[in-house]
Amino acid sequence: MKILGTISIVGIGPGSMEHVTERARRAIQSSDTVIGLNTYVKLMAGLLDDQEVLQTGMTEEVSRAQKAVEMAKEGRVVAVVSSGDAGVYGMAGLIYEVLVEQGWQVGDNPSVEVIPGISAIHSCAALLGAPIMHDACTISLSDHLTPWDVIAKRVEAAAMADFVIAFYNPKSGRRTRQIEEAQRILLKYRAPDTPVGLVKSAFRERQQVTQTTLAQMLDHDIGMLTTVIVGNSTTYYHGDLMITPRGYERKYDLDAATQTLRPSERLRPEHEPWALSGEGNQ
Ligand code: SAH
Repeated sequence: MKILGTISIVGIGPGSMEHVTERARRAIQSSDTVIGLNTYVKLMAGLLDDQEVLQTGMTEEVSRAQKAVEMAKEGRVVAVVSSGDAGVYGMAGLIYEVLVEQGWQVGDNPSVEVIPGISAIHSCAALLGAPIMHDACTISLSDHLTPWDVIAKRVEAAAMADFVIAFYNPKSGRRTRQIEEAQRILLKYRAPDTPVGLVKSAFRERQQVTQTTLAQMLDHDIGMLTTVIVGNSTTYYHGDLMITPRGYERKYDLDAATQTLRPSERLRPEHEPWALSGEGNQ
C-alpha cells in the first residue's frame, strides 16, 4: 500500500494570532510535525500540543524544505510555517523546487497545499493608512540569491513607472548599502518629500511605525524586520496617515452630497477623456 503524506505550506501572517487564518490554524493543529524558523514556531506555540517540532535557523531553508519532503514521503502530515504569505519570498516555491528536482509530479505522494497568509505589504500598509491603493509592487533588496544588477534594474523600472513599492529584506547587519542605492535610484524619479513608511515587526510585540520621506528615510532605524513602503508621485500624508489616491477625484466631488454625474453617466467615454478610447488618446 502506498503511504500518503502531506505538506501544508502555511502562511501565518505578520505575527499575531488574530491574523492567522482559520485554515492555517487547522493545518498546524492537525499536523504530526511542524517545521519552521524558530521565531515563527514560537509565535504559533499556542496552537501546538503533541506535534513534533523541528526548528531551524536562518539560511537553513533548503534543509528545512528537504526535511519536510522526506518526512511527508514517509507518510507524515507536515506543516511548514512561513511568515506572512508562504508564497512571497517564503517556503512555498522552495518546497516545490525540491520536489520537482526529485521527479515529483502533481498528484504524486506527498500532496501539497499552500495556505495563503497576510503578506507584509498588506499588514504594513494597513498600519500606515492606505498607501497601496494604486498599482504597487514588492522588491526584495536581498542580494544573497539574486544578482544586484537584476534588483537595481527592477528598482529603476518600478521608480520610472511610478509604482508604489514595498521593499522586503531592506537591510541587515551586513547588508547596508542596498537600501542606500535604492534610495539613490528612486530620487532620480521621485520628489525628495515622497512619503515613505517604515514598519518594523508589524503586529508583533516590538511593532514600530515610522512616517518619513524619501530624502530622510535613512535617518531612521531600518532592519531585517522592517518593510519599507515608498509612495508614488500622488501619495500624501494626512497627519500620520499615508494615503495613495485611487483617482476618484477625477470624476467625483468627495465633498458633495450629490454628484454632478448621475450613475448612468459615470462610465461614458466623454467623462473619461484619459481612457484608452477617450478623446485624450485619439
Ligand atoms: N513571506 C513573508 C516575507 C518574508 S521575507 C511575507 O509574505 O510577508 C522577510 C521580510 O519580510 C522582512 O525582511 C521584512 O521586510 C518583511 N516582513 C515580514 N514580516 C514582517 C512584519 N511582521 N513586519 C514588517 N515586515 C515584515
